[in-house]
Amino acid sequence: MSMKNIGVIGAGTMGNGIAHVFTQHEYEVFLVDIDEELLQRGLKFIEKNMGRELKKERITAEQMEAALKRIHPGTELAKLKDCFLVIEAATERKELKLELFRQLDEITSPETILATNTSSISITEIAAVTTRADKVIGMHFMNPVPMMKLVEVIRGLDTSDIINEQIHELSRAIGKVPVEANDFPGFVANRILLPMINEAIYAVMEGVAKPEAVDQVMMLGMGHPMGPLALGDLIGLDVCLAIMEVLHNGLGDSKYRPCPLLRKMVAAGKLGRKSGEGFYQYS
Ligand code: NAD
Repeated sequence: MSMKNIGVIGAGTMGNGIAHVFTQHEYEVFLVDIDEELLQRGLKFIEKNMGRELKKERITAEQMEAALKRIHPGTELAKLKDCFLVIEAATERKELKLELFRQLDEITSPETILATNTSSISITEIAAVTTRADKVIGMHFMNPVPMMKLVEVIRGLDTSDIINEQIHELSRAIGKVPVEANDFPGFVANRILLPMINEAIYAVMEGVAKPEAVDQVMMLGMGHPMGPLALGDLIGLDVCLAIMEVLHNGLGDSKYRPCPLLRKMVAAGKLGRKSGEGFYQYS
């Protein structure tokens, strides 16, 4: 098991970003997605994003070529058997993640660290389906991963001090800043961010203002670099809904109820950037 082998599950918005960052720090990245088409789309995204860095002369053509070669794509979890760390970044659904961790526990070496990029699902609950709860941890990257410095590191009830320290060190080694949080619904980032996005959607639904106006108020008045509705589109409205459900169910407070307009948009397949339409249109 090489300390340079990292597994990433899911080649979507987050998974391709995580793969991008690790390969640029000379890790061999085993990128697995259940869907071949989405896997190829994720790989194209990485190439396109690195191409931008090349144009801005942040990397050379040789570095880009070498980084792309260090990504080993596949559709089978068995590809991850020799990784010392696997980061799961699959769709935000609890049952799916529990099943993936059951399988990872069987496939990988007992020493492998199993991390999840979940936005809100309990790390303790995920860890409990494995036989190595001490080696299960939350590694919550921010979107877009190559640009955002933060990694929220979330300890489950049984995560060991050693694993916690190793993940902090590794995060620093890939140029990120780890910040520790405990295992509560939404952790820190989404406990605070998502209710704001949800409230912005209520403001649109109730006719308080149009999406552009809501976003402008938050950008020009509050100094946010991006308005909450544009950010919801970037995150993915399905992901936003899933997180609000976890906050609502986990904390039991009606202030976290998902906005009906958010539900309606997800039901209509208007998921934001990834589907081409959300509160805004994307080409
Ligand atoms: P996404 O919908 O863009 O991508 C999810 C990918 O997972 C898809 O390509 C899908 O095919 C794949 N997948 C589903 N089931 C799988 C399986 N069994 N095995 C392998 N691959 C599988 O989602 P995303 O936005 O990248 O989110 C991924 C995770 O990251 C979620 O847990 C989400 O909550 C979290 N997250 C998202 C953001 C964000 O801004 N989007 C930010 C931080 C964390």
